Amino acid sequence: MSIHSAIVHVALQTPSHSGVGDLLSYASERPLPPGTLVRVPLGTREVLGVVWDADEATGELPDGATLRPIAGVLDGVAPLGLPWRRLVAFAARYYQRALGEVALAALPPQLRDLRPEQLARRLRRPAKGAGDTSDTIENIALTAEQESARSRISSEKGPFLLFGSTGSGKTEVYLRCVQEMLEADPTAQALVMVPEINLTPQLEERFVGRFAPRFGPGAVVSLHSGMTNPQRLASWLAAHSGSARIVLGTRMAVFASLPGLKLIVVDEEHDPSYKQQEGARYSARDLAIWRGREQDAKVILGSATPSLESWYASRPPTADDPEGGRYVRLHMPSRIGAGALARVRRVDMNQQPRRTVFSAPLLQAITERVARGEQSMILLNRRGYAPVLHCVDCGWKSDCPHCSAHQVFHKTDRTLRCHHCGYTVRVPYHCPTCGSPDIHPMGRGTEQLEEQLGDLLREVLRPDRTPARIARIDADTTKAKGALEAQLAQVHSGEVDVLVGTQMIAKGHDFRRITLVAAVQPDGALFSSDFRAAERLFALLMQAAGRAGRDAAYMAAQGTPCEMWVQSFHPKHAVFEALRTHDYEAFAAQQLKEREEAAMPPFSYQALVRADARTQEVAQGFLSAATAAAHAAQLPGLLDGTVVLFPPVPLTVQRVANVERAQMLMESSSRATLQRFLAAWQPVLQATRSQPEHKGLVRWLVDVDPLAI
Ligand code: ADP
Ligand code: ZN
Ligand code: ZN
Repeated sequence: MSIHSAIVHVALQTPSHSGVGDLLSYASERPLPPGTLVRVPLGTREVLGVVWDADEATGELPDGATLRPIAGVLDGVAPLGLPWRRLVAFAARYYQRALGEVALAALPPQLRDLRPEQLARRLRRPAKGAGDTSDTIENIALTAEQESARSRISSEKGPFLLFGSTGSGKTEVYLRCVQEMLEADPTAQALVMVPEINLTPQLEERFVGRFAPRFGPGAVVSLHSGMTNPQRLASWLAAHSGSARIVLGTRMAVFASLPGLKLIVVDEEHDPSYKQQEGARYSARDLAIWRGREQDAKVILGSATPSLESWYASRPPTADDPEGGRYVRLHMPSRIGAGALARVRRVDMNQQPRRTVFSAPLLQAITERVARGEQSMILLNRRGYAPVLHCVDCGWKSDCPHCSAHQVFHKTDRTLRCHHCGYTVRVPYHCPTCGSPDIHPMGRGTEQLEEQLGDLLREVLRPDRTPARIARIDADTTKAKGALEAQLAQVHSGEVDVLVGTQMIAKGHDFRRITLVAAVQPDGALFSSDFRAAERLFALLMQAAGRAGRDAAYMAAQGTPCEMWVQSFHPKHAVFEALRTHDYEAFAAQQLKEREEAAMPPFSYQALVRADARTQEVAQGFLSAATAAAHAAQLPGLLDGTVVLFPPVPLTVQRVANVERAQMLMESSSRATLQRFLAAWQPVLQATRSQPEHKGLVRWLVDVDPLAI
């Protein structure tokens, strides 16, 4: 048995939540450097693993050693570097997950599935070339604001918060910084992240157009979950080998192996999509900051409405606070090539007849725009026809039998659908309880808005004397591959006069002829129990307002101002007041003051533990028992109150797919203490789970820096 002369420690995805940081040991014919990809037996399966550095005990194995030998080495792929391994280890530790889970989730799925021979075949395919060509880039002249941002990014260390209005030319600044970095160093790589898959094609076009002529057709690759597995593998390998100079992607791209990483851009850094909501609940924005510091890469966070965390972290020094924040704030207030920001019109819905959907002045404004050939965009953050059906006679409601939520009425395909568990039934003709035919939708969603608008605009003609055209874009209309692109193309080409949709349409799209944006029913978020709801609503409305009047030449030719309409029962609410003046800074100051007084993030740090169980009692019982055990063990931060544990409560939607859900909040003024507490609590939670009285527990998970409370 002397051929297996080395022991290797391997990170791999173990079946259950089996503790943090385990490595399994295997025997190997030769020592393998850390970062090597290997295939190893696990039970009856063979799985992918990453060799990890533990104290590597090499040498002869004693006779009768029980270590199983590794099954193969993925020779064609260079070992994953130390910076990548440190990133993965940090993320696993910080977000309280197993090392192997995070490591394997960070690799493209095909790497897990392909056998070494298959992979070798894949690697023999010629990659599109990257490398310097003689072409130089014809650069447009930057504005003074852009130039100032560029030169400070070039000369200072950062991290930077690029605070620029929509249309202020942030993307141009990213492009210029990337270019400068890549030209200065032939091995340098840049990572550029956007929040949504559907924003990547637009960005890719811009980056490829700019850089392919200079650095070769393979210089720019994308990385997101909308790609096929072979595409993802190809992009990943190109990034890992260094042949790709620029990686564009969604949050998952933060884990790409980029040995030459010198610059990270996080565009729309405030967007909640940067937070992964299952498995390891990481924040790609926060990991980007960590990675930049570790790997000595510059980091640019960009937004017109920064997260309050980033805004606070970039506060300038003052007399009371001579240090200021740790980020550098760069401000670009002016819009380029775009008209003035939208004029905000608020409609007080208390003054409107009951059940008004479109107030008369809003309808009038939309009508005028259709007649002039301009486009309008109507936002409602709820898809379907109506959130619930109800029976007038007996009060029956279309409740989901598996969740504590209503089934949503979808008129187009006559279904009742639960948006939490997916349970779908045909719409009944009679009330299932009393048989009455008198069943009606309550409330409204985008389908109904589209229908009502169709009725209201029936007589309205476009300049070419054809009827007004209305289109809807939401998760229901864009399920098919390519559907969203096709629908967006229709809007861009001017075929559509009024676009109705959810927040999907508010983000990033460069519509040229939209002169009116309306939020018809935004009040829901004003009184949410989630303290971030106002911040999110403000960002969404500002971003939506930014869709209007993007083309100054067009606006000038039309000769009318662009408008953002808000219909509200609370038109004087601080969110709408700040929106009216486009004053992010005033809004942020007011929110931060409230947060500081209440000691909420960014003035404190939070984590959640969620428990799912067959009954609410078991879920909360588990959390209470784990809390008691934490206090009994005097875990870090508890005695002096640096870490505060709140009592368990049911989630807002308490039951989903017949599972009861509860959560408890932990808060601390010290991130480090909260981390120490969580690390020490992990084994206590494990031990609590194995006690017989918690048998009905389905799962538990930790969410560090949760975005939704
Ligand atoms: P943002 O990312 O801040 O929304 P973009 O970078 O997309 O803004 O710029 C908005 C528009 O202005 C784009 O059409 C872009 O081509 C144009 N633009 C940006 N910088 C300049 C410049 N220096 N000169 C002329 N046009 C510019
Ligand atoms: Zn009934
Ligand atoms: Zn359901």
